[in-house]
Amino acid sequence: MEEAKQLFKKLKIHTLLDLALIVPTSYNDTTLTLKPTLGQINTLEAKVVDSSVYQGKLRVTFTLTQFGRRVSSMFFRVTPYHHKLFEVGSQHVIQGKLEEYKGYWQMSQPKSIKQIGKITPKYKTVLKESEIASLIELYVSEQNLYNEGLDSKEVAALMHIHFPKSLEEVYENGSFKLDFVKVLKFVEAYNHLKKLRGKRADFPALRALSGDIKPFIENLPFTLTEEQQAVIADIQNDFACDDKAAKRMVVGDVGSGKTMVILASVMMAMPHKSILMAPTSLLALQLYEEAQKHLPKSVKIALVMQGKDEGNYVDADFIIGTHALLYKEDLPEASLVMVDEQHRFGTKQRASLEALVLRQAQEPNEVPKKPHYLQFSATPIPRTQAMMESELLDVSLITTTPFEREVLTQTITKPDFSDLLTHIKEEIAQQHQVLIIYPLVEESTEVPYQSLEESRGFWEEKFDNVYVTHGKDKAKEEVLLEFREKGDILLATTVVEVGISLPRLTLIVIVGAERLGLATLHQLRGRVGRNGLKSWCYLYSNFKVSERLTQFTQTNNGFDIAKLDLKFRDSGDILDGTIQSGQKFKWLDMGEDEEVVVRAKNRMGSIEIFEE
Ligand code: ADP
Ligand code: MG
Repeated sequence: MEEAKQLFKKLKIHTLLDLALIVPTSYNDTTLTLKPTLGQINTLEAKVVDSSVYQGKLRVTFTLTQFGRRVSSMFFRVTPYHHKLFEVGSQHVIQGKLEEYKGYWQMSQPKSIKQIGKITPKYKTVLKESEIASLIELYVSEQNLYNEGLDSKEVAALMHIHFPKSLEEVYENGSFKLDFVKVLKFVEAYNHLKKLRGKRADFPALRALSGDIKPFIENLPFTLTEEQQAVIADIQNDFACDDKAAKRMVVGDVGSGKTMVILASVMMAMPHKSILMAPTSLLALQLYEEAQKHLPKSVKIALVMQGKDEGNYVDADFIIGTHALLYKEDLPEASLVMVDEQHRFGTKQRASLEALVLRQAQEPNEVPKKPHYLQFSATPIPRTQAMMESELLDVSLITTTPFEREVLTQTITKPDFSDLLTHIKEEIAQQHQVLIIYPLVEESTEVPYQSLEESRGFWEEKFDNVYVTHGKDKAKEEVLLEFREKGDILLATTVVEVGISLPRLTLIVIVGAERLGLATLHQLRGRVGRNGLKSWCYLYSNFKVSERLTQFTQTNNGFDIAKLDLKFRDSGDILDGTIQSGQKFKWLDMGEDEEVVVRAKNRMGSIEIFEE
């Protein structure tokens, strides 16, 4: 037992199914060959008729007992053991690759097999062969597999794979049979889901929340989309009882109207308090303005940012802020904690979000009560991934936007540059704004494009009101704010990914587009056309247009793009490393195998929220 534990540790595995998923990379078959085949491994009964030493090598000639033919063999690194083993007259079952040379059969360095009629799986792991084999023998049993919740077909497939009676049973054209691969995909998905479920920890809520959202909904200048309403209903459901604090992630493309879901949640929390944290002060300010615009006047709203507050947060019903919130010692108790643009927070900051939630937790008895917790993210993930992640926390997807944004995406290259300049001038003439994204701030020999600093002179000479900012720019928020009011052209690096809304922005040029992941490109493209103005996204590249970029130009839907990202995961032209690799699976394909994940999910016995 203890020994097995050590071996599990070495293998870095945690569950029985982890072990069952370590499948043989090949098999050693010692069944006697019925018909000798050249070029293949043969297992044959043989008798030594001659043995001689030639230039330090041992040369042995056999006759095949069943076939009457001769086979000669050469052994290179010879020991006295070999001489003894292959004495003239001795009987063997020899195994090796059978080849023909000038009409003679040869088998180089055959093994003398002790036990015939046995198929031995070969595993490639960090363990010794005997160690992994005994682990599998010990733990991969029908009973154990049934206990894990697999059905008879799945159990049979795994048993065949680990303990085959014949190779035809498992292999087809040299790889696992399709039915077996299907089972392996399923087991992989199911095992992963089970592990995630084991990790989910729920706590009682501080209180149930059931505030009336009507005064807010009826006041809106538009009707909420079906998906917005569905997510709001999910959240109402979460809040309805206090035995479990909500833990939900709302994922929706840029512009899908997540703010309305945030505001509706604030209404549900009333008369109790809500806190909302945003990654930047610009975004916090924008949310503050929208809250003021849409929430009933009776809701008291406050803004907390480093160095400046707005409104009295101690009394407020709804406190919006940046991470400055974390330093307020007199932050009142809130029944609802929310985080916007969750994907923009770094890992360190995410830990502090957890601290914000914990700070609201109370420990009257043994089990702490927690506030309801909602996260909002604009990084669309494939449905399969959402299904998996919903084991850890509930996930709601908003896959549509309230109004069709008209953004035309095109790939361009050097010869298109003068047309591009003309287009930029036209947009500026209409009081619209232009954003140009460079791959680097300063010149580099590694990147075959001009940097921000190299190009700024060109733009500043040709145009007025050119603004420049980048990720390390301390003044970037001020620059962006000033640009929003007065600018024509903004030169930047990917920093503008941060969700600031620039309503007059209608044209974006992304230089060296092939270097970026599709998720990043999509975020950048999401900057233009926010208010329904017809807009353009130009992907500038010095290279031949790849299929990846071409397909990107054909869809505006972030969820489709998440799928494309999976499809082109191994594509050569992404260099920024931003690609969302997610969980690595050996058999399961997150892009293609939605059906498998649905089945695995159903087997878990969860409430099926992902039915079509
Ligand atoms: P997100 O945060 O998901 O990127 P926002 O909440 O900022 O998106 O919404 C984008 C824009 O769409 C805002 O101007 C918002 O007022 C508007 N909007 C939201 N919901 C609707 C709707 N149902 N109908 C029309 N416009 C909407
Ligand atoms: Mg938003």
